[in-house]
Amino acid sequence: MLYQRSSALFDEAYKYIPGGVNSPVRAFKSVGGVPVFMKSAKGAYLTDADDNQYLDYINSWGPAILGHTHPEVLEAIKKQAERGFSYGTPTELETEIAKYIVENVPNIDQIRMVSSGTEACMSAIRLARGFTGRNKFIKFEGCYHGHSDSFLIKAGSGAATFGNPSSPGVTSGTAQDTLNARYNDIEQVEDLFRHNEGEIAAVIIEPVAGNMGCVLPENNFLQKLRTLCDKHGALLIFDEVMTGFRLAFGGAQELFDVKADLVTFGKVIGGGLPVGAFAGRNEIMDHLAPKGAVYQAGTLSGNPLAMRAGLTTLQIIKNDKNFYENINKTTEILDFEIGKILNSKSIEHRINRKGAMMSIFFHINSVSNFDDASNANHALFNNFFHQLLAQGIYLPPSGYETWFISDAIKQKEIDKTLEVINNFKYS
Ligand code: PMP
Repeated sequence: MLYQRSSALFDEAYKYIPGGVNSPVRAFKSVGGVPVFMKSAKGAYLTDADDNQYLDYINSWGPAILGHTHPEVLEAIKKQAERGFSYGTPTELETEIAKYIVENVPNIDQIRMVSSGTEACMSAIRLARGFTGRNKFIKFEGCYHGHSDSFLIKAGSGAATFGNPSSPGVTSGTAQDTLNARYNDIEQVEDLFRHNEGEIAAVIIEPVAGNMGCVLPENNFLQKLRTLCDKHGALLIFDEVMTGFRLAFGGAQELFDVKADLVTFGKVIGGGLPVGAFAGRNEIMDHLAPKGAVYQAGTLSGNPLAMRAGLTTLQIIKNDKNFYENINKTTEILDFEIGKILNSKSIEHRINRKGAMMSIFFHINSVSNFDDASNANHALFNNFFHQLLAQGIYLPPSGYETWFISDAIKQKEIDKTLEVINNFKYS
């Protein structure tokens, strides 16, 4: 494939946009090479600036669960656009989508809309702190909850030590209140609670992690977190920005039958437009301004175009009785068939999968946490990525990311993917 125009566009972008991109992972820094600039998308496919076509396994990092530019969502956005883009006032539509979500997701009474997953998680932590009157919270290494200061902290060398900022600009004062534990390591969480008794406001987790590649909770990890939070009076926050409406309509709470105190959303909930949200029981959500004292606001929060795109997407999913069965089946076939091909080539690998999320780790061992994910052969992943890209398969450009399977991926697309992977040369 030729990437002449993408290459020229990247050079130009580099002059005016830091690193040439508006979000770092798009720059192909991890896999190397020039990022491909897209100009349109439809169904399962992306078209780049050089008119190359790709079968898309990123799907805008999750939102395009129906595939791109679904005709009903497009129509709904057009209709709303004719009535105005943004009013800065309440609308009936906001209540309609709030009611719809509250009625369909377990254990939430109220939901507040924001414009990104970052805002949703940042606000959920503030609310948990305001509700409990405590400052610290526990997160897990390898989980991503957006780029607000208190999440950009990685663990210090000792398990129970205070975190260190992992980005310049994050103060050590902020870092002190973020505690890190290893994903799936309940003993570390117990230790953190023991050493910080009465100080921990919340535990926040991706119930299925997608930001270190796809990593699943093991040995009832989520249930055990629920028990520990109850014991110590902390809130359990499920960051369902990736998993919400993807793993099940009621998200991970429904799938694993574990109740969270607060749930954050993003991606699918906005149908491709910028939306995030956080939700919980009345007793917690009542602490938010203007009713309560915990402040949170947004000029474009509840934006009518975004609400319409989101609600239409959710309704399409809900009205298709086989939706989850279908996307899960597609993912299962990909897992099974890709595994067979890689085995036939004697390539060591692990495929982690839950619902319509999956990742391939080139690793001999199972991958249960960030250290395991780091120990995979990322050079081989990069080679795999580029060989697939050159044959029209667009994977996330990093071995630490999840593939998002959309409903537009059908047998033809599966066959094409397997054919290309069959051509993979391990050199
Ligand atoms: N939480 C999770 C689990 C995410 O995957 C992401 C983004 N990938 C975020 C939060 C942040 O969302 P956004 O990029 O919309 O700010």
